[in-house]
Amino acid sequence: MISLEQVRDYFLQLVQVDSLSGKEGAVAQVLARDLAELGFEVTRDRAHEAIGGDCGNVIGKLSGTSDAPPLLLNAHMDTVAPGEGVKPVLEGDVIRTDGTTVLGGDDKGGCTAIIMGLRHVKEQSWEHGPLEVVFTIAEETGLTGAKELDYSQLGARMAIVAESGTLGKITVGAPYANKINATIIGKRAHAGVCPERGINAIAAASKGIARMKLGRLDDETTANIGVIHGGDARNVVPERCELEGGARSHNEQKLEAQTEHMLECLRAGAEELKATVEPEVERAYQGFHLAEDAATVRLARAAGEQLGVHVQTVTSGGGSDANVFNAKGIEAAIISTGPQDVHTTDEWVNVKDLYRACLWMAEMVRSFSAGSY
Ligand SMILES: [Zn+2]
Repeated sequence: MISLEQVRDYFLQLVQVDSLSGKEGAVAQVLARDLAELGFEVTRDRAHEAIGGDCGNVIGKLSGTSDAPPLLLNAHMDTVAPGEGVKPVLEGDVIRTDGTTVLGGDDKGGCTAIIMGLRHVKEQSWEHGPLEVVFTIAEETGLTGAKELDYSQLGARMAIVAESGTLGKITVGAPYANKINATIIGKRAHAGVCPERGINAIAAASKGIARMKLGRLDDETTANIGVIHGGDARNVVPERCELEGGARSHNEQKLEAQTEHMLECLRAGAEELKATVEPEVERAYQGFHLAEDAATVRLARAAGEQLGVHVQTVTSGGGSDANVFNAKGIEAAIISTGPQDVHTTDEWVNVKDLYRACLWMAEMVRSFSAGSY
């Protein structure tokens, strides 16, 4: 049986190994070694080639002791900035940072839940079906690891994705998202000598943005313009202005309508000043929505309740690797393993939550094999 101290020490070890997106090599080595110690056959794929990273996804496979179908367990290895040189501080049961970095519980909490959960399964000699573990790279910078994953190596049709957040949360839905970029093209001219010959691309862009409905648009749709840059000198009417924005919705039609609305506003704004717009729309990820009685949701709920974890299903406002798995036909529910205030330097986690997350993971592996969910 794993102990609270073992879980705490494992997590403390992981967070002190730097792993910003694209630089997961060192932590991948630790996780690959630990999977191998648990009996997994471990390989890496070449997902990092898409972003020039230093290592691919870690893929581990273990044959089952029962003839249950394969189950995929996933967490991502990368953490957000500022996340290098993490110095964890232990205050009773709570782990924080020294205030200069994130803790990296997103997603080393998930990595810990998988490794220590599997260690528990092994030590208890529990039966389990075939297990597939994928530790992904570059989740935080566009779900690259999941998108570029070598799916030919996997047979599972069901997945549990271990993430940060309040212990017991089961995320059953996440939005569709579009990246919306545009270049507004005007005409360059000297701002003092002949401004009437110019077309101000920044002014045209701002007219377009001013028309847009942005922010929270309804209970399932949000939109934002996050980056704007253009122009190159105080005394030159700017020829170009570039925008980066996006929209998300749990409803794909609403996403498309909002995207079209934003492009239409840019066209109308540009037209006022006789500028033109070169838009670029890309689907960042597909949304998903699992029913309350979907197998992975029942599995996570039953295993959590078995341990007395307060489980609750929620939908998320953002995307994660689970969006990609679901789009690839692998039903994936997300469980939260405890880390709070992630992506901030105030991030913290209670070791007791993390410990229960490991037992929750182990219990899911056991119940999935037994078919008791
Ligand atoms: Zn995460």
